[in-house]
Amino acid sequence: MVKQSEEQARLALTDPLTGAENRRGFERAYQREWSRGQRQYHVFAMVLLDLDHFKRVNDVHGHGTGDRVLKTLCRTLKSVMRPTDHIGRLGGEEFALLLPGCQPDQLRAVVERVQQAIHAMNVHNDLQQPVPMTASGSFVSITPRPHQNLELGQVIDHLDSYLYQAKRNGRDSFISAEQ
Ligand code: GH3
Ligand code: MG
Ligand code: MG
Repeated sequence: MVKQSEEQARLALTDPLTGAENRRGFERAYQREWSRGQRQYHVFAMVLLDLDHFKRVNDVHGHGTGDRVLKTLCRTLKSVMRPTDHIGRLGGEEFALLLPGCQPDQLRAVVERVQQAIHAMNVHNDLQQPVPMTASGSFVSITPRPHQNLELGQVIDHLDSYLYQAKRNGRDSFISAEQ
């Protein structure tokens, strides 16, 4: 009985298609990291990413292939991230990454690794033709300070304006949202 409710609680925080955390689960992870950061002066990083021209994948190759891209993306992200990192599905093909302890001077390298892994994703349509994917995004380091409160929504809004810039610059790029 206890086991079952634990499983139900986990499912309520998980996106069923990709296994990523849903908005609620990710919000929880963010709050936890924020509080820990405040207590221990612990830095963390956030990345926002959105697949490029994903609507076209659905239109050209079908929704099933689109779903496969999303699943492969999450598996791929997991394979290049630490076990303690978080992946949140914020919307259709928009994801946020939370990287506890990621130092500011390491962040760009991590993002490049993510970008390369997305290029190397090996998804095929129903005719076994490859479906190449790219993503655009933005990234920022966060050091929580005592008596400060920074909501996840504020971080996302900030990152979103830089993501939009990456899209306008021609996509397939990640922009630093450091101020
Ligand atoms: P951009 O490069 O500007 O991001 O263009 P885009 O086509 O990726 O963005 P847009 O927001 O126009 O399209 C997102 C698409 O994602 C449209 C929607 O049907 C699709 N989508 C959202 N959720 C899912 C899903 O769970 N499965 C599939 N297959 N498609 C989804
Ligand atoms: Mg998109
Ligand atoms: Mg989108």
